[in-house]
Amino acid sequence: MPHISETAIEYLKGVGPQRAEMLKKELGIFTFGDLSGYYPFRYIDKSKFYKINEINSDVAYVQIKGYIDKIEMIGGKRIVRMTARLSDETGTIELVWFNGFRWLKDKFKKGQEYIVFGKPTYFNRKYNITHPEVEIPDDDNAPIVFNLQGFYNSTEKLKSKGLDSKGISKLQKTLLTEMKGFITETLSSDIISNLKLIPREDAIINIHFPESKEILHKAQLRLKFEELFFIQLKLLKLKLVRISKFNGHKFSIVGNNFNDFYHNHLPFSLTNAQKKVIKEIRNDIGSGKQMNRLLQGDVGSGKTIVALMCMLIAMDNDCQSAIMAPTEILAQQHFENISNLLAKTKINVQLLTGSTRSAKRKKIFEQLENGTINILIGTHALIEDKVKFKNLGFTVIDEQHRFGVAQRASLWKKNNIPPHVLVMTATPIPRTLAMTLYGDLDVSVIDELPPGRKPVKTLHFYDSDRLRVFGFIKKQIKEGRQIYIVYPLINESETLDLKFLMDGYDSIVREFPLPEYAVSIVHGQMKSSEKEYEMQRFVKGETNIMVATTVIEVGVDIPNASVMIIENAERFGLSQLHQLRGRVGRGADQSYCILMTSHKQTADAKKRIETLVKTTDGFEIAEADLRLRGPGDIEGTQQSGILDLKLADIIKDEKLLHYARKVAIEILDKDPNLSNPANALIARRVAELNKEKTNWSRIS
Ligand code: ADP
Ligand code: MG
Repeated sequence: MPHISETAIEYLKGVGPQRAEMLKKELGIFTFGDLSGYYPFRYIDKSKFYKINEINSDVAYVQIKGYIDKIEMIGGKRIVRMTARLSDETGTIELVWFNGFRWLKDKFKKGQEYIVFGKPTYFNRKYNITHPEVEIPDDDNAPIVFNLQGFYNSTEKLKSKGLDSKGISKLQKTLLTEMKGFITETLSSDIISNLKLIPREDAIINIHFPESKEILHKAQLRLKFEELFFIQLKLLKLKLVRISKFNGHKFSIVGNNFNDFYHNHLPFSLTNAQKKVIKEIRNDIGSGKQMNRLLQGDVGSGKTIVALMCMLIAMDNDCQSAIMAPTEILAQQHFENISNLLAKTKINVQLLTGSTRSAKRKKIFEQLENGTINILIGTHALIEDKVKFKNLGFTVIDEQHRFGVAQRASLWKKNNIPPHVLVMTATPIPRTLAMTLYGDLDVSVIDELPPGRKPVKTLHFYDSDRLRVFGFIKKQIKEGRQIYIVYPLINESETLDLKFLMDGYDSIVREFPLPEYAVSIVHGQMKSSEKEYEMQRFVKGETNIMVATTVIEVGVDIPNASVMIIENAERFGLSQLHQLRGRVGRGADQSYCILMTSHKQTADAKKRIETLVKTTDGFEIAEADLRLRGPGDIEGTQQSGILDLKLADIIKDEKLLHYARKVAIEILDKDPNLSNPANALIARRVAELNKEKTNWSRIS
């Protein structure tokens, strides 16, 4: 017999076919279980009322008692909004509706006292509340009223069917009365007693109808833990499956290629962080299981050499290696660097990109198949079907965020035994985020820069200081340095963006005229051969200034460039600013990053600029970024779905997340298949969650 939580939502008293349809469409609620899992997003303290004159910008939500004495419909033939004036003995505030007001407007009565709940916003020098919840205070036949009342997110369509927050709350009441006694536990008794959690049923009831603040907190803790725990369990299981399913190349020897390079050709000594990471990778690739590792290291931390040394181990074990970079410029640069490092060895390194000539291409294909090529460096061109290796054992993917998962996987398909994969990223990912997003990968971190680097000095200037900045640029150029000037993509339209850039370019050329100065320009709408040409002029030092959009963001290494000027810096995200700053500070001279902004900035933009001026630590910046933007907006996370947490917040609940992961690891260590009777409840929940996930396809 199906469990009560699987009962279709139309069978709940008070729902019926129409409302059921709406609940499915609007909120994805199909079953009793779905509804009981639809938690309030905040709680209103029903004992607390604000006076209208107490409202200020610090209060997020207010509850006011008052009278409505004036209703206005605004707009001509087509009414665009309705306003109502709410008054109490201290003042008045305007209530505003932009839609859904037709069925509301006749409901208000003069002289009737209402309770209004909503979020006050400051507009036109006064406060108003848009789309408030309005109710008539009831005294006699009121249901049991707790001080804390759950407030549910609803939609205009649901509200028009009477399912505003209060309506949903009523349904929850009916539902929980029916489900009481049947809400099953999902955690083992060990976990529950170790963590002193309350039972699941108590948690669900109290998350909807808390009898006190204390029990609400217990309910939240219990449900947050559960949420994080099952995500971690899923990710860790994925990893277990990967490790057990794919038999990887076993690199058991560290031989001549590695040792010769290490002792005779390495131009510097490795940092401790680099040594540590090479050791971690060696452990993986020597184990016979396929490695899937994320290597994080700030710009300039020396990831390339780590990758190279691992590729030499692959060679020592008769395997080929490949590096895949996101752009031709970067692939080219890797190729030059690595060729230089290996110049005195017999190792065969080749470059394959979209612009490799066909004769050369043919030769590369041949040599790949007969095993003459040891290391192949390239762009997306590497994953074309024609590219066949004799024995690919190690793959490096640089600047990971430009590559999709599918592209990563297609590299594996080329071989009977999948190669080890090292994903390198210079965009630091906060630990908590990495744990949820890449919980199935192993993570290594290079947390130390090579010695002797001078941190980039970061300065903030307003547009009105431009002449001083130009003066500074001239001085730097006189000393032989080169300058980047970067413009944002504003995304309103490509032509406008280009115009913005070209205007900037024109004014730079006017200020820095030939023949004394030479200025390069690179932007996204140029052909790649043109870009390449301009880039090369700058690399060779033929031009002093490079004016560009963010196309230069990733990886380019020009040690002589010592100044990075970012125009409209307030328009860039934190991690992007940090990436751009990483383009300078690679040579022996003091480098500078100059952030240009207008005087007008949002509070968030100010924070971003302040953070960047204050620190050069990529991880600190990534954490700040996460805090400012929230996890949903961090690059690459939107699609993952993994961060659609109902209750937990990976920033605020960081400790709980670590704990949940620890518990999940302990359980899987002892019982990888969850077949131990003590874990039966957990196993059942995992199966249920998998089923729920497939059911979601009903919606999309
Ligand atoms: P990223 O991690 O940004 O890819 P790279 O691998 O390009 O950094 O290295 C940046 C620069 O630092 C390169 O010029 C490289 O030769 C140099 N480098 C790397 N490791 C060391 C080290 N241990 N000591 C000195 N210089 C190093
Ligand atoms: Mg790099």
